[in-house]
Amino acid sequence: MRTLIAGNWKMHGLIAQLAEIESIAAAVAASRPPADILICPPATLIARAAQLADRRIAIGGQDCHSETAGAFTGDLSAEMLRDSGASAVILGHSERRQGHGETDVIVAAKANAARRTGLLAIICIGETQSQRGDGQTLQVCRDQITGSVPERMTAAETAIAHEPLWAIGTGHTPTAGEIADVHGHIRGILVERFGSEGKAMRILYGGSVKASNALQILAIPDVNGALIGGASLKSADFDAIIRIFAAGLAGGPLP
Ligand code: PEP
Repeated sequence: MRTLIAGNWKMHGLIAQLAEIESIAAAVAASRPPADILICPPATLIARAAQLADRRIAIGGQDCHSETAGAFTGDLSAEMLRDSGASAVILGHSERRQGHGETDVIVAAKANAARRTGLLAIICIGETQSQRGDGQTLQVCRDQITGSVPERMTAAETAIAHEPLWAIGTGHTPTAGEIADVHGHIRGILVERFGSEGKAMRILYGGSVKASNALQILAIPDVNGALIGGASLKSADFDAIIRIFAAGLAGGPLP
């Protein structure tokens, strides 16, 4: 399974920051890491970013509407993202679930739109600190996968991003053992629901991934990539993660 290292820029990035994308794309073209590299900038930058990236890295959106077009002021369809040059879209990020009231049903409808359009749907799930404290992590992940990932999704169309809410932007991460437990559980649910496709779906970890912990996290069984917020904004930070992953995989000295 090919690792996916994805950056989520959230609401960060003006035209000047396209230089970071150029720099990441150039580094990836030069080093050819054994991973798919994706940056999801704000929608305003997707078309320019895709042009600049010139297929050296993939460009994605951070959300889409479930409908193709219509009277939905301020929204963007999956078709619009695709038309701008995106090949993937993050869906159901906790900041959208919490800040925009997105339910599992809404996320599933958006995932169907991504599928209809040929965008890789990166469907985010994750438990809050209090759910974790109450021992509900595994059940929350099961419920969110059941509700947010539509029937018949394939591995080529879908990645799951497990992002504990308490780890996003906090500098805290679960232990390697905790990540292994949750990702093993997620794998079990995916296989239960999607059979061999579920076995091949990538499960990303997200939440305070940075150069200093990336190798350890990416080496955990059933961690097939990372969704990275803060450390994806600067090419120096993001490139370091890619380099460390590539060197670790090759068994060579770490940069
Ligand atoms: C995210 O928002 O998806 C995320 C993982 O952020 P950070 O890496 O900054 O914790």
